[in-house]
Amino acid sequence: MIEKSRATGWDITVYKIIEVTCSGGGGDDDNGESNPPNPVDDGFDDPFNEGSFGGGNESGGPGPNNPAEIDFNDTGIYTAPILRLNIIGELGELLQLGPHTTPQMQYLLNDASTDEVVDLYNYVEEEQRSNEVKNFAKAAIDAWMEDGEVDFVEQIIIDNDFLNTSCLKSVYDDMGKVAKFKEYLQNFEPSGSLATLRFTADNNFGNNNQDYTNAMAITIPPLSSNEIIIAFNTDSNTSGNILDKPDVFKAVAMIHELLHVEMFRKMLDAVRAAEISGNNLNWANWTNEQFYYDFLDSLENKYFGIFDYFTRYKYGIPVSNEPNDWQHQQMAQHYRNTIKKVLTDYDPTLTIAQKEALSWIGLNEANIKAWQNLDEDPNLDTQQEQNAITTLISQIKNTFTNECN
Ligand SMILES: [Zn+2]
Repeated sequence: MIEKSRATGWDITVYKIIEVTCSGGGGDDDNGESNPPNPVDDGFDDPFNEGSFGGGNESGGPGPNNPAEIDFNDTGIYTAPILRLNIIGELGELLQLGPHTTPQMQYLLNDASTDEVVDLYNYVEEEQRSNEVKNFAKAAIDAWMEDGEVDFVEQIIIDNDFLNTSCLKSVYDDMGKVAKFKEYLQNFEPSGSLATLRFTADNNFGNNNQDYTNAMAITIPPLSSNEIIIAFNTDSNTSGNILDKPDVFKAVAMIHELLHVEMFRKMLDAVRAAEISGNNLNWANWTNEQFYYDFLDSLENKYFGIFDYFTRYKYGIPVSNEPNDWQHQQMAQHYRNTIKKVLTDYDPTLTIAQKEALSWIGLNEANIKAWQNLDEDPNLDTQQEQNAITTLISQIKNTFTNECN
């Protein structure tokens, strides 16, 4: 819930644990927003028809005159080296990777699996070769070079740092990854190659995010490109260190950050729809005041829920005032039911009261309206409800399983 303006004028939103709370208010998950149109899928060309690369000598293998040596794998994709080389050559040109001596080309030629090469090629072709697609493709190669993982369907890069933190990665896997999460948010994400997402873990989180040392994670908005980053706090010198927290806290942190991601995606979509210069959320660079109004119009038309909260809590705030937590305001009011649904699937043994308490993590802040107005139990006043939730959060924190231990 901590949002602080940076030099860019944009918020970095953070998630932190605060041990003061109440009992649950009912959220309303219907955000009333419309889905953006799906991108046109015009199919893609077969990779083996696309070859134009001439460097077939580098790794030997059968040539075009030895068709008998060309074979197929289980999926029917040609795997003969010459075809692989053709695909790599095509990728090199499409992505402007430079001569075959560059590190990225060397990786593709010598180290990449054929699956990686084919997946990369199909992704670039299916997504119609936009600049953003090419940028993600290049980032994918870089990720592989550093032993990361790439999900082309969801456009997610999982950094090696996150992968290697196995007790964190396992919670992500247990939750069904982002694909599963999206099922809960059918009206809540623009489709297509709008934004890409990176999962990383930062064991120097305290130095890199000095104002947020008690946060379990941080979501960095797409300020200079369309990449959104979720950085998990694995810094043992900080109170937010997620490795100290029970697994169910890690699950809540992931849901929470993914809600931020979807909000940023929608905002990015509104920017794109308004055809605003720069095409990212760094509005400090918007040179024309009209861009700002175009953005608000676009946001209002496409994502009224976000427009509503953004203008209510953010827009028009005097410069010297503390920036508002509009994303957390919206989450606390409208998305705690979603959080509870995800938790139900993640751990069916959680009680209703536990899920209610967990859904408030990161949102039980003094400035959050839904928290201030908490009044679910007719037998308790707001303060008593908040205290009950805070107590239960502490209890869960101290007693639930932490696979990192
Ligand atoms: Zn947050």
